[in-house]
Amino acid sequence: MKIRILDLLEETMADGPGFRTSIYCAGCAHHCPGCHNPQSWDFHGGREVSVDELLEVVKADEFADVTFSGGDPLYQVEAFTELARRIKEETGKNIWCYTGFTYEEILSDPKMSRILPYIDTLVDGPFIQELRDPDLHFRGSSNQRLIHLTPQEEEAIPGTVFVTPFK
Ligand code: SF4
Repeated sequence: MKIRILDLLEETMADGPGFRTSIYCAGCAHHCPGCHNPQSWDFHGGREVSVDELLEVVKADEFADVTFSGGDPLYQVEAFTELARRIKEETGKNIWCYTGFTYEEILSDPKMSRILPYIDTLVDGPFIQELRDPDLHFRGSSNQRLIHLTPQEEEAIPGTVFVTPFK
């Protein structure tokens, strides 16, 4: 199984707490006005990398957690679900996932919702220019939520929404 990616950053601190391996995938159809990265919209951009290769990169850094970003990872949800499942089964790493879909949209979609049991924190919803706030932590506009899907030991980041675990 393959994922089309634009970039792979190791030891970044921009996409969640602590050091993280961030996988930026290609393709997004949300087309939010003011998107910080419109070059990521092309579903044919970047290059294809196998889930196995990505897993090796993730496992190579013993201490870094993982972030899925884009583009929007949920347009390649089957492959990202496979990657997330294997990260959880083979490492103790925490996974953050950015998406332009809302949590409620994901929950009501049988295919997309299959990734949720493997995600610790979902950063959800489209970027809305009118709600842009540079003081927000790890997100661009105030409609976007940091949804903790699993119990978190670290101190909650301001704006965090906790949901009852459903798994
Ligand atoms: S969901 Fe993210 S990547 Fe997609 S258009 Fe909106 S801001 Fe850009």
